[in-house]
Amino acid sequence: MSFKERLIRFMQSRYGADEYARFLNGTGFVSLLIALVFTVIASGLAAGHPVGSVVFRILYWLFYLFGIVLIVYCMMRIFSKNIEKRHAENTRFLYKKKAVQRKWNSLIDRWKNRKVYHYLKCPRCGQSLRVPKNKGKIRITCSKCGEQFIIRS
Ligand SMILES: [Zn+2]
Repeated sequence: MSFKERLIRFMQSRYGADEYARFLNGTGFVSLLIALVFTVIASGLAAGHPVGSVVFRILYWLFYLFGIVLIVYCMMRIFSKNIEKRHAENTRFLYKKKAVQRKWNSLIDRWKNRKVYHYLKCPRCGQSLRVPKNKGKIRITCSKCGEQFIIRS
């Protein structure tokens, strides 16, 4: 049996890579890169400075360990035989990723429209509301609970 055949046989009953694995792997490698930068700083710029070099060494170890833990965890998931559980983890990850993307997009929208709209919360139910600016006194009706209130825009 060739190496390739053995590898295929080995992976057959195993979960393999998914989007969560790519995220863990990517974050792990970025963390290792940051660790590398810290160790260069510790032995270069901060070398003569006792406190500085210790601080950068600690940062190096933190990022190094974090990166290794993520990459090891990623590998354990890829070679796992508990396919159902890994699939559920990936689904949870995708769900959280979408929520973060939505939040991020709404922050960008707010920033782009900051001169045109006020963003406020309904005093009764907390629903986020977008209100035009510079219209004088206006009555707002909450789109969720129907609460009405007046603001100066
Ligand atoms: Zn409301």
